[in-house]
Amino acid sequence: MIKDAWFTVQQIDEYTFAISEYGHWEKVHSFLLLGQKKAVLIDTGLGIDRIKRVTDQLTVLPIDVVTTHVHADHIGSHGEYERIFVHKDDKDWLINGIQGLTIDQIRRNLCRDITIPIPKTFDPDTYQPYQGEPTGILDDGDIIELGNRKLVIYHTPGHSPGHLAIFDETNGYLFTGDLLYDQTPIYAFYPSTNPVDLVYSLDKISEIPNVTRVFGSHNTLGLEANILFEVKKAVQILRENDLIKFGTGTHCFNGFSIKF
Ligand SMILES: [Zn+2]
Ligand SMILES: [Zn+2]
Repeated sequence: MIKDAWFTVQQIDEYTFAISEYGHWEKVHSFLLLGQKKAVLIDTGLGIDRIKRVTDQLTVLPIDVVTTHVHADHIGSHGEYERIFVHKDDKDWLINGIQGLTIDQIRRNLCRDITIPIPKTFDPDTYQPYQGEPTGILDDGDIIELGNRKLVIYHTPGHSPGHLAIFDETNGYLFTGDLLYDQTPIYAFYPSTNPVDLVYSLDKISEIPNVTRVFGSHNTLGLEANILFEVKKAVQILRENDLIKFGTGTHCFNGFSIKF
């Protein structure tokens, strides 16, 4: 397996890799999915180091970058790839910059609580999140055919307007981005988020059949598929108690929590 100073590479199966940044407090995961004709890279990480150094060692296939959402911690190395895809509702942020956060806030978040040596190529004072035109737009229900492997795109707004979940139908892997992960709260408490949409999206992913494993973009790598039953229950509890609005606080469920 690849040894790298910044990234941790873990093999999920023969054709699927997690590329993680455990030296940073956010514990971000990006995912490389290999097919026969091409590969998909789900997100490109924090951008503190160059993720292409890793993907170059894992595949010679052409890579399409699929963006779960346009937040700085998931588009860090977008600039190293030719082909970038995003949902239309996050497209404006990709081109013109992320709204609602100042560059100082973004830099502060990116540069704190790092527990391993920061690469010399990274300068926290001049860091700018990636901006650029996407190659193409993804929408709900789109299929990405990798040859022997089929990915289904789900539009799952709430954490961001154009947030996407990606379902690898061939293997049953559901990549949930920042819509669902464990340990730290799922964020839907600042102005560019939408609690109603987030709960709608959680309900939507809880209905996806034949999920074998859930991969969020932060914290524990790989969650049991039965977390989706807990998600279903959580949606019901939040609805019944009229909690789906800003300011109702952090709601804890079995295996995850949500902050409104
Ligand atoms: Zn995010
Ligand atoms: Zn994130």
